[in-house]
Amino acid sequence: MQEQFFKEALSNNIFEYITKATEELKLESYVIGGFVRDFILKRGTAKDIDIVTVGSGIDLAEKVASLLPTKPKVQIFKTYGTAMLRYMDVEVEFVGARKESYSEDSRNPEVSEGNLQDDQDRRDFTINALALSLNEASFGRLLDPFNGIEDLLKNKIIRTPLNPDITYSDDPLRMMRAIRFATQLSFEIETPSLEAITKNVHRINIITRERIVDELNKILASPKPSIGFLLLEKTGLLKKILPELIDLKGVEEVEGQKHKDNFYHTLEVVDNISENTDDVWLRWAALLHDIGKAPTKKFNKKIGWTFHSHEFVGAKMVYKLFKRLKMPLNNKMKFVQKMVLLSSRPIVLASEVTDSAVRRLVFDTGDDIDSLMILCEADITTKNPKKFKRYHKNFELVRAKIKEVEERDRVRNFQPPITGEEIMETFNLKPCREIGQIKEAIKEAILEGIIPNEHKASYDFMVQKGEQLGLKK
Ligand code: ATP
Repeated sequence: MQEQFFKEALSNNIFEYITKATEELKLESYVIGGFVRDFILKRGTAKDIDIVTVGSGIDLAEKVASLLPTKPKVQIFKTYGTAMLRYMDVEVEFVGARKESYSEDSRNPEVSEGNLQDDQDRRDFTINALALSLNEASFGRLLDPFNGIEDLLKNKIIRTPLNPDITYSDDPLRMMRAIRFATQLSFEIETPSLEAITKNVHRINIITRERIVDELNKILASPKPSIGFLLLEKTGLLKKILPELIDLKGVEEVEGQKHKDNFYHTLEVVDNISENTDDVWLRWAALLHDIGKAPTKKFNKKIGWTFHSHEFVGAKMVYKLFKRLKMPLNNKMKFVQKMVLLSSRPIVLASEVTDSAVRRLVFDTGDDIDSLMILCEADITTKNPKKFKRYHKNFELVRAKIKEVEERDRVRNFQPPITGEEIMETFNLKPCREIGQIKEAIKEAILEGIIPNEHKASYDFMVQKGEQLGLKK
């Protein structure tokens, strides 16, 4: 590749300052890793820049900060010997070139000073070890000892610079990173790496769950997440991380009746939904929407395979899974649970679209109705083109009906037209059970379409209901 091409990569003027600081301190420095990789792949503008220097990263960062017109604050991480500053929305991290040696029980190595080659040796993949010189005499020169550029542009492969077995065993997070990069970039993972990951799967135990979830989120946020989940499954990592998905694998046959393989079905749903939403939580919902099917699966001689209440069981499993992975147990988790719980409702509707069923769905789903519809449409994975068309058409009807019912009945985020206070005043009551009964009856009447969602009709209904309960105005 031409030096001119890489000089373009260095057109952000932060690099001029780094070069100036490097020369003043008589150091050597390079920009390395993701910035170089993504520039070559034209993957948008970088938010992080990693600088490696043969010497002290902290000294270099301070020098650069003093030269920059904005005089940014330098954040120093003494334990890691690194420093970071912000310049024009970009985080620039400085580290001294180093050698690493690892112990059995930690992914945090012992480090000692080294040269550029040592530092490139410690990188995870050849495509992440590319460096560009920021030294005045060789500004923009590519230093690529492992032919990462070919792996990036021609071979499209994830490969470790050194022995893969040692690389993955030293820092098992790299197993997740390999699969994540393969997913984000649509690259293959070289066979020796795949073998080494498979062999070192047990080492994932020393990685914190937060780190694992970070990588899972990046896999899920990729254009085609199934690439990653298939690799996680193939290497044995998925069984360690998300065994609930492994339990969905396989097709059972009893008396000539088979059910579908819910693992591969799930991955198709995740890929489908990724074409229609970037919301990673909705993608989580797609990934987990069928997990309740493994524990609820039964064979019934009359009707074949059943998965009764799998949505309910699945929603409960979501909580346990989030908790185990130390994911936040907040509204996002509740959203995923809700999607799993309601995931079959529109499908049932699609065969018979009645007003009251649609009203109930909108009432139960609230503002998440659009997300639920996106999930249900992604759930259509039939290979029969006629059925595929018919199911989508049915959902179009459901969507139209939702719109109609919403405009007319306003049951999304339902507010009862009669308050408890009005009931108390009307019948001259103190707080009691009957108030709740009347409120519930009004809500039911509206959802069933017996009365419209209006005050006058609800008032009359309340009077009638009160009389039935023996109350007097
Ligand atoms: P992204 O920003 O998409 O995660 P990145 O490559 O910039 O990509 P970082 O985690 O910021 O990812 O890492 C920066 C660089 O540090 C990588 O390109 C790689 O050279 C190196 N690196 C990061 N993590 C590891 C690791 N676990 N083992 C070895 N090298 C690593």
